[in-house]
Amino acid sequence: MATLSQAEIRKIIERYALINAYKYDGKAQTSSVMSSIISTEPDMRPHAKNIKPIVDEIVNSVNSMSMESIKNAMEQKGAVCLHERGEAVEQAEGLPPLPGLEGNKRPVFRLAPYPSGPLHIGNARMVILNAEYARLTNGKIILCFDDTIGAMQKDIESEEGAKFVVPEAYDMIREGLEWLGVKWQQEFYKSERLPVYYQYCVKVIKMNMAYACNCDVETFRDLKNAGMSCPHHDMPPKETLEIFQGMLDGKYNEGEVVIRLKTGVDLKDPALREPVIMRISFAKHPRVGNDYIVWPLLEFSWGIDDHEFGITHIIRGKDLYKEDFIEEFLWNLFGWKKKTILHFGILMFEGIKLSKTRARQMIQSGEYLGWDDPRTWSMQSLARRGISPEAVRKSLLDLRLSLNDISFSYTQLYANNKQYIEKCVVAFSFIPDPVKWFISEIPRSKWVARVLVNPFVKNGNYRDIEIEASKGKKVFYLSEASVDAMKKSPVRLKDLFNIQKINGELHYHSEKPEGMKSSIPWIDGRDGNNVDVQVLMPDGSVVSGKGESSIMAMDIGQVVYFDHFGFARIDEITDDGIVAWFAH
Ligand SMILES: [Zn+2]
Repeated sequence: MATLSQAEIRKIIERYALINAYKYDGKAQTSSVMSSIISTEPDMRPHAKNIKPIVDEIVNSVNSMSMESIKNAMEQKGAVCLHERGEAVEQAEGLPPLPGLEGNKRPVFRLAPYPSGPLHIGNARMVILNAEYARLTNGKIILCFDDTIGAMQKDIESEEGAKFVVPEAYDMIREGLEWLGVKWQQEFYKSERLPVYYQYCVKVIKMNMAYACNCDVETFRDLKNAGMSCPHHDMPPKETLEIFQGMLDGKYNEGEVVIRLKTGVDLKDPALREPVIMRISFAKHPRVGNDYIVWPLLEFSWGIDDHEFGITHIIRGKDLYKEDFIEEFLWNLFGWKKKTILHFGILMFEGIKLSKTRARQMIQSGEYLGWDDPRTWSMQSLARRGISPEAVRKSLLDLRLSLNDISFSYTQLYANNKQYIEKCVVAFSFIPDPVKWFISEIPRSKWVARVLVNPFVKNGNYRDIEIEASKGKKVFYLSEASVDAMKKSPVRLKDLFNIQKINGELHYHSEKPEGMKSSIPWIDGRDGNNVDVQVLMPDGSVVSGKGESSIMAMDIGQVVYFDHFGFARIDEITDDGIVAWFAH
């Protein structure tokens, strides 16, 4: 836990005092400022007893400010987003209390990503739930890269070696966690712990609870399914130890022999009968190269690590019941204390393919732009689309710890995100597949369209777009669909004037907005007064069109609102225009 300086403590209190004052009409209260700080800032907890006088002082000074200056100060101090985050935090109260808490002991959680790519939306629920319980209980989080080769046996059998551990994934995972606001206190790699797993494997063998088996896969499966032991089951520990040593010494080939755990052939579920705990792989590992040729299966390594690292709570999908069983089997075998395991149901993502293996292939083939391609649904891709981490967090926390299998709601994610971003956007006109139209009979040359900078803000500011007609005519970009849909009655060009379609041509009709049922977006069609806009959509397609030239004044990273189209994040600004990534 970080130790905070007096100045840092003051800054944190100031932010929360401002937020509290903003929420309650300029009147912050010491008690509620204190409780927000304690519930959301773990680093402040050790100071809880001593900060009350400072909170009092700051609350007093904030309460003397006008609402306007409170709002400005919040913006300057980055407290607007914090305010939103605070709202999300309150939502998390739907989680059931964490079971298995003993006295004042600090619970220990673990995040165990397999580094085959960055975290994606499907991994995020496990992360968020662990992080949320850690936050609520002042728990500790250990980040453990689950980078054993045995962990992905199935895939490794179908592809070559350890390529599945993507070297850059380690950093991308850290980046994704940081983006989600997850703090962890300790970090380790399973690939560095092979000697530990070997020691425990020797112990299990000496306890006569494991044996070396060289049955071929089909033979063993048939025996197992019939509830029968294989001929190696009763191999004396001494012989098994010799073979295990031979495996470590490189005397055997991949697949030639494995070490199996004696869980029993009479177990109801065949998947749990006599599982492999150690196997040979000559695959080169991105971190430890060819230093090791014998790798543990992930359940075995977990059984050991969860004990050795003092993990108290494991929160994972209910589909990982095999891991539960083998871990508990090992804890019992060694007489170790049980950990509390919490499950959640399967979250289905309809319409998208959340596979890191597939993503890796698509990136290699050039179909995807990279690990942040929107089709990967990685944290990086969401950030690049302008999705806020708070929205992801809220969408996943709202599912709570339900054991039901449910479909993830993209609509809900987008609705949550809108709440977080809409206050910060700037609105522009953007017309996909635009068509140039001349509008005639315009009664004067100079026009000013007064448009809202941000239509989602009450009493917001306006900006002006100047338009110049020449000899009663003016060229515009309009969407083909909106012109096609025009009937005899006049239609308003948004914030400008009204036009009418007569015999397939567009004419000026009138100026005032009164009586106009709808308005359509437009872009000044004169060269130099518009820019090319390309919007990358979540499915990887690109929508091209025209936008206002003032979009060019935006910065990369700014989220904009394209009228009649949606929210998008400016990703690239070139000489000719901009590239934006569509959010929703
Ligand atoms: Zn066998």
